[in-house]
Amino acid sequence: MRLIILGPPGSGKGTQSDIIKEKMELEKLSTGDLLRSEINKESPVGLEAKQFMDKGELVPDAVMIDILGIYIDKFEKEGKGYILDGFPRTKPQAEALMKMLKEKNAPLSAAILVDVAEEKVIKRLTNRWTCKNCQAIFNYLDGLPKDEKCSKCGGKLYQRSDDKKETIINRLKVYKKNTEPLIEYFQQNDLLVTVSGEGNIESIMENIIKLLEK
Ligand code: ADP
Ligand code: ZN
Repeated sequence: MRLIILGPPGSGKGTQSDIIKEKMELEKLSTGDLLRSEINKESPVGLEAKQFMDKGELVPDAVMIDILGIYIDKFEKEGKGYILDGFPRTKPQAEALMKMLKEKNAPLSAAILVDVAEEKVIKRLTNRWTCKNCQAIFNYLDGLPKDEKCSKCGGKLYQRSDDKKETIINRLKVYKKNTEPLIEYFQQNDLLVTVSGEGNIESIMENIIKLLEK
């Protein structure tokens, strides 16, 4: 199984891909998580990426395609199925991915689109907290829990630096311009599976699994 998951920032694709990863025993690559960990390490890639991410802009395609190539090679060599969260985000990235997979004779199984209305997305992102330790994501619409700790592992919760109102609005703009066209691209390739991202986490996940089984 080789999956990608698409959707606007705040659609819940990170949460859903974590669940799919567990249920279907896949490897997962989240390019956003990967870049944030590079930023924490202050590596050259991290330092470059930070300038773009803090503004809600995309990291250049060439950088992302190189990183992805390393992971795809690794997953394929190990014979593992995988889900990509946050890649591809532009047409050149999608084309590079399809080319890589074609060369490896490793066809993509599906592109999952998690569909959510724009107003909902803004509300979710401004209330989103992430665990520094296990990367779990929480939406606290009525404020943080008293101990301000991750309910899964007790780690420290933080708000992503790009979850500020102005940055969120730019990320949505960038999504519309660069990533939304991929919906049609994957539709034409007969790979698109669309699921509503509104409702509870469990039922969204069940819908995704049902659609994938088809
Ligand atoms: P979200 O989808 O909620 O905006 P992500 O964690 O997927 O969050 O991405 C955060 C940021 O990381 C993006 O705004 C972008 O700057 C950068 N990024 C992640 N993946 C890519 C990619 N494939 N191409 C370019 N930039 C990326
Ligand atoms: Zn945690």
